[in-house]
Amino acid sequence: MATATSSADGVETYQFQAEINQLMSLIINTFYSNKEIFLRELISNSSDALDKIRYESLTDKSALDSKGELEINITPDKENRTVTIRDSGVGMTKKDLVSNLGTIARSGTRAFMEAVTAGADISMIGQFGVGFYSAYLVADKVIVRTKHNDDEQYVWESSAGGSFTIKVDEGEPLGRGTSICLYLKEDQKEYFEERRLKELVKKHSQFIQYPINLWIEKIVEKEVEDDEAMEDDAEKSEEKKEAEAGAEKTEEEKKEDEDMDTDEVKVEDVTEEKPDEEEKKKKTVKETVHEWELLNKQKPVWTRKPSDVSKEDYAAFYKSLTNDWEDFLSVKHFSVEGQLEFTALLFAPKRAPFDLFEPKKKLNNIKLYVKKVFIMDNCEEIIPEWLNFIKGIVDSEDLPLTISREMLQQNKILKVIRKNIVKKCLEMFSELAENKEDYKTFYEQFSKNVKLGIHEDAQNREKLAELLRYNSSKSPDEFTSLKEYVSRMPEKQKHIYYITGESKAAVENSPFLERLKQKGYEVLFMTEPIDEYCVQQLKEYDSKKLVCASKEGMEIEEEDDEEVKKRKEEEKTKCENLCKVMKEILGDKVEKVVVSDRLVDSPCILVTGEYGWSANMERIMKAQALRDSSLSAYMTSRKTMEVNPHNPIIKELVKRTEGDKSDKTDKDLVNLLFDTALLTSGFSLDEPNIFSARIHRMIKLGLSIGEDDEEEEMKPTEEDLPALENPEVSSMEQVD
Ligand code: ADP
Repeated sequence: MATATSSADGVETYQFQAEINQLMSLIINTFYSNKEIFLRELISNSSDALDKIRYESLTDKSALDSKGELEINITPDKENRTVTIRDSGVGMTKKDLVSNLGTIARSGTRAFMEAVTAGADISMIGQFGVGFYSAYLVADKVIVRTKHNDDEQYVWESSAGGSFTIKVDEGEPLGRGTSICLYLKEDQKEYFEERRLKELVKKHSQFIQYPINLWIEKIVEKEVEDDEAMEDDAEKSEEKKEAEAGAEKTEEEKKEDEDMDTDEVKVEDVTEEKPDEEEKKKKTVKETVHEWELLNKQKPVWTRKPSDVSKEDYAAFYKSLTNDWEDFLSVKHFSVEGQLEFTALLFAPKRAPFDLFEPKKKLNNIKLYVKKVFIMDNCEEIIPEWLNFIKGIVDSEDLPLTISREMLQQNKILKVIRKNIVKKCLEMFSELAENKEDYKTFYEQFSKNVKLGIHEDAQNREKLAELLRYNSSKSPDEFTSLKEYVSRMPEKQKHIYYITGESKAAVENSPFLERLKQKGYEVLFMTEPIDEYCVQQLKEYDSKKLVCASKEGMEIEEEDDEEVKKRKEEEKTKCENLCKVMKEILGDKVEKVVVSDRLVDSPCILVTGEYGWSANMERIMKAQALRDSSLSAYMTSRKTMEVNPHNPIIKELVKRTEGDKSDKTDKDLVNLLFDTALLTSGFSLDEPNIFSARIHRMIKLGLSIGEDDEEEEMKPTEEDLPALENPEVSSMEQVD
C-alpha cells in the first residue's frame, strides 16, 4: 500500500501517483464543453459495483444482508451545490480506496493523456479505465464514502491539487456500497437541476440494468381542513412547512415524512386522501414534497424482439454498454431456441480500442447473463480470442445461476453458445462486406483479428478467407479479395502468388515480381506481420495453392515449348561455372547459387527455403526482443542466390570467370551483388561497414583513384578496412 502521512484525528493524507496527478490537471485545465459525461462514468462504475455484489451473492446469499436493494440513487442538493451518486454495490475496502482512487495508475492513464494531447475527445475517458476522474470536470471537491462487507466505512476526499485524504467514516452508515458527492464548480450548477439530470440519464444511461432513481422535488395539491388552513404557498420550503405543520399531522403522514428523510424508501403517493368523518370545510393547498423517481424504465434491449427495437435503441444500448463515444458499426441480435436457449446481442465497433492486442488486457467484451441476471464480464469460454473486439451480451436460459468460472471451462452449453456466436459474427462480417465503405472501416481496424482467426480457427478458415483483403500488383490502391483475385487470373495461371514485406512500397517494386508481372500474373501484397502467420495456415484458397514469390520452389507455369526449354538449358550451362565461382566466393552466406526463373531485369536475388522463414519473417523475428534464439538458428532463412542469365552484369561475370578464375575485383563484385541482393530481397545488412567499404573501393575504381594515390591521413583506415578477401572474418577479429 502507498505510504500516507497521518494526523492525530485519524486522517491519512496520500499523494496521488504522478501520472494520475497529471491526468487530473489535464481534466481540470483542458477547455472542454462536453462535461456532462461525468455522470455516465460514475453511473457506469456504480453499475459495475452492483454487478460485483450480485455475482457474489449468487454463491453467498449473506453478501446482500448488509443492504438489500440493488440500485443507484442520485440526489441533487441546491443549497449545498452538490450532487451525490449513491449505489448499493460492492463498495471498497480501505485498500481498494487507496489503490483504485489515486495511487495505482493503469495503463490507460498515460494512454488517455496521449490520446487527448493528440486531439482525442475527453468523453473517451471511460474506455481507458480512468472514468472516475471525470468527476473533476464538474466538481472542485469530491467526497467518496464507501462500505465494503469486509471492512469499515471510509471516507475519501480530494480537491485535487496532488493529494487526497482517507479516514474512517463516522457519518451516516451506508450499509453497503458507495456514495460519491460532487461539490459542483460555480459554473456547473446545471448538474443539480432535475431536468438536466433526467436528460442525461436518458441520454447516456437508460439501459443500465439497475434502477436509477432521482430524488425529485414535486409540488402537490393537498386538501386540508379549512379551519386549520395553512398559509403555505408553493414557494415555501418543505422544511419550513414541516416546522409549522408537523404537529397537526396524522400518524400516517408523520411516518411518510420520516421515510422521506432517509433515502431508502420510495414514496409512492403523498397526496393520498384521508378519511374525513367530520365533513369540515376543505381547502386545497400546494405543498412541496420530495420523492424518488425511477429514470430508466426500459426493459433490457436484448429481451425485446429485434423487430421492436429501433436503431436508436441499439445505439443507446451500445453506448451505455461500452462507453464508446461513437456509434457501433454493425449489430447482430438473435435468439437460439430448442434444446438450448439463449439470446445474444453482439456489436462490431467502428474502431479498435487502444489496447486491443495488449497481452495483459482483459480477455473480451461479452457480458454473460443467466435468465437476465448478470453473471460476469469477459467470460473466456464464450468467444474466441480473435473475436476479442466484439462487444455485447449473452443471456442463457440453461446455465445455472450459481455457475462459477471453473465450471464454465467444462460446460457443454457454453461450447454450443460459443459456436453459435462465432457463426453469427462471421455472418455479420459477410454482411458488412457487402458495403465497400463499411467494410473498409471494419477491415482497417480489425484485419489483424480476421487473420488471427485464420491462424487459429481451422473450422472456419474457409469462411474467414473470404474476408481477407489485400493490395496487389493489379490493385495497388484498393483492397482486393481472394475471390476477385481468382476471377482475374489468366487461364494458364494455376497458383495464387503473394509477397510479404514491411510495406507496400517495399514490395511493389520487388525484383521477385519481375517475371510474374511480365506474365500478367497478379501478386498480393502482404504487409502486416500477422500475414506471415496467417498464410502459413491458409495454404490454399479455392483449391489454388498460395505461393510465396520470394521463396524457393516457386513454380511459374511455362509453355512447354521445346525451343524455350532448350534455350533455358543452354543458359543454365553457360552460367554453371559462374554459379560455382560465386558459391565459392560467398561461402556459407548462401546455400547455393542457381539460375533464376523469376527475374527479368535485376541481376540476382536471394530466395529462402519453401518452409523456412521468409526475409520478412526474419525481420519480424529479429524485432522480437525476447524470442528464443535457438529457434532462430534453425529457422533463419537459408538463402539461395538466383542469378539472371539475361542481365548484362551477369553476362559479363560469366565471361570474366571462365575457366574458374576470379580476381580481387570479381570477389568484390560478387560480394557487392550479394549485399545489394540482401537489400532488394528484404533482408537487412548484418555488416553495413563492410558493405560501404566495398562501395568505396568501387567508387575509387570508377574515379580511377589507385590505392597509392591516397593521401597520408587516409592511410590508417586501410588497416581498419575489413578483409575483402575473407568476408567471414569481421574487422574486429582482424584487429585482434
Ligand atoms: P474503471 O471503472 O474503468 O476501472 P475508474 O477510474 O472509473 O476506472 O474506477 C477505478 C476503480 O475504482 C474501479 O475499477 C473500481 O474498482 C473502483 N470504483 C470506482 N467507482 C466505484 C464504485 N461506485 N463502487 C465500487 N468501486 C468503485
